[in-house]
Amino acid sequence: KPYLNKPTGSRSEALYNEALQHIVGGVNSPSRSFKAVGGGAPVFMKRGKGAYFWDEDGKRYIDYLAAYGPIILGHAHPHVTAAICRAAENGTLFGTPTELEVVFARMLKSAIPSLDKVRFVNSGTEAVMTTIRVARAFTGRSKIIKFAGCYHGHSDLVLVAAGSGPSTLGIPDSAGVPKSIASEVITVPYNDSEALEAALAHWGDEIAAVMIEPIVGNFGMVMPKPGFLERLCTATRRNGSLVIYDEVITAFRFHYGAAQTFDGLEAPSYAAIEPDLTALGKIIGGGLPIGAYGGRKEIMDKVAPLGPAYQAGTMAGNPASISAGIACLEALQEPGLYDRLDRLAASLEAGLAAAARAHGIALTINRIRGSLSTHFCNHPVSDYEEAQDTDGELFAHFFRSMLEQGICLAPSKYEAWFMTAAHTEQDIADTITAADHAFAKLKPY
Ligand code: PMP
Repeated sequence: KPYLNKPTGSRSEALYNEALQHIVGGVNSPSRSFKAVGGGAPVFMKRGKGAYFWDEDGKRYIDYLAAYGPIILGHAHPHVTAAICRAAENGTLFGTPTELEVVFARMLKSAIPSLDKVRFVNSGTEAVMTTIRVARAFTGRSKIIKFAGCYHGHSDLVLVAAGSGPSTLGIPDSAGVPKSIASEVITVPYNDSEALEAALAHWGDEIAAVMIEPIVGNFGMVMPKPGFLERLCTATRRNGSLVIYDEVITAFRFHYGAAQTFDGLEAPSYAAIEPDLTALGKIIGGGLPIGAYGGRKEIMDKVAPLGPAYQAGTMAGNPASISAGIACLEALQEPGLYDRLDRLAASLEAGLAAAARAHGIALTINRIRGSLSTHFCNHPVSDYEEAQDTDGELFAHFFRSMLEQGICLAPSKYEAWFMTAAHTEQDIADTITAADHAFAKLKPY
């Protein structure tokens, strides 16, 4: 197995060995470690520009990681960079409200009409965590339903995995999450309306909210089946529970708006699938730390200082993040931008599929506009079980070979490839050539 964990003598390796002495696991987020792809030193990046970043040894990579989503414009986009510099010069934190927050709230509301009111926080985790608190405050109930394989950040309630069976009380997915908390969470399979309706029928008036990624980005890119979100909204509301959309990945990903306003969803109307609360993050920060949540006025008015649900933040709404977010959303309004991402991803999908076929590699590609996921298997992937039932070892070898050839993917078989506005047709062609080499080498395995 020639790619796995072979010493490279690189600066990344030296830095990693030192990082291990000081930073737990050598990384500040476990998803950055190479544990899932055979171990060893992750690549340490030094600088990025457009669709590329360069590691500590000066090697260039075409970047499909896009920092797990936020970097949709590419690295160091001039408009965003200028906004960040301006914010830095004017003072990065005041502990008072600023006009920027008002401007940005208005921008988000006009793109996502279900947001009567919003609150800015510092991460997707915080945004999701708070939507749950607010839903509980509003309904006076404590349980939530979530879907297997959806990731909603690392707060206690959503670090709960499915037990066995179609709809189950959760089991803690992390040490440190008490069983008492896990017992407040019911996990059902994605795209399974019957299981969801059964869970709602069983736990009925104990459910504060159903939390969902309206389009999945965390076990590959997975669309809800036609009618799934509509049935979810109808069934959830029938017993007085709220619908929460986690749009941390999906907002501004497929078009200038959120998944809830994306016409690729095949819903009868936006109103039929509109959530009560929405969590946002990633792209809306233009590459700086941010999160936001919002929704119906009467629900949001439960939040302090208007209401009894407490949520606060020293850094929340800071001028640097908000300025970067405004600049990012301004740049995303360039006519044709999302169609370009769509076209690039379509060429990449076609090229990857043809190369895999040519080498006899079973590969399922899920593509939604400018993002796609690759699954080493010969069946469709529409829920977590199907995403798990794929060849992780083949993926690890593919990942290593691509990295060696200067193509950077996320080091996990579950993560998506994200197109950025900076990628070119040439980048896509180079990526397909690299994939062809990688698939050729995969053959013996
Ligand atoms: N929700 C979703 C759908 C996510 O993908 C993520 C992060 N990958 C989060 C929430 C958590 O966001 P953050 O990492 O900013 O806390």
